[in-house]
Amino acid sequence: MRIGAGYDVHRFAESGQLRLGGVEIAEAPALIGHSDGDALIHAVIDALLGAAGEGDIGEHFPPGDPATAGIDSRELLTRVMRLVAARGYRVVNVDATVIAERPRLRPHIAAMREALARDLGVEAGAVNVKATTNEGLGAIGAGEALAAHAVALLDEGEG
Ligand code: MG
Repeated sequence: MRIGAGYDVHRFAESGQLRLGGVEIAEAPALIGHSDGDALIHAVIDALLGAAGEGDIGEHFPPGDPATAGIDSRELLTRVMRLVAARGYRVVNVDATVIAERPRLRPHIAAMREALARDLGVEAGAVNVKATTNEGLGAIGAGEALAAHAVALLDEGEG
């Protein structure tokens, strides 16, 4: 068994549509990023890479690389899962926390769990997504940015 932790933060744009956990969420603007800015998927990717002993997301997908400009982060997650499988690991479970003042995430949690589970090759019950606010503190509390933490547990063997 191997455990990994991941963290990411992205600033909100003025417009566009939020993509989080692979789900389109109409009630908040897009997150600014080299890819689609999906901070939750990026935190999950770093947790997976950490558990596999494979460095971090910036090493595998360097910011500024034209090949990944605007890319759907689910595609990045799929590529990382190929690497995880090639190393002989499968996902046991993933737990994540999104910290954001906006939008209200509860109505979207089930869809995020399902999208992530599909990409991770596990049942939705093996993916937990929690949401909290920053109690109005700092840039996240002011609704200027959204952060995500994730932990992933891997085990040896086929999924
Ligand atoms: Mg990121």
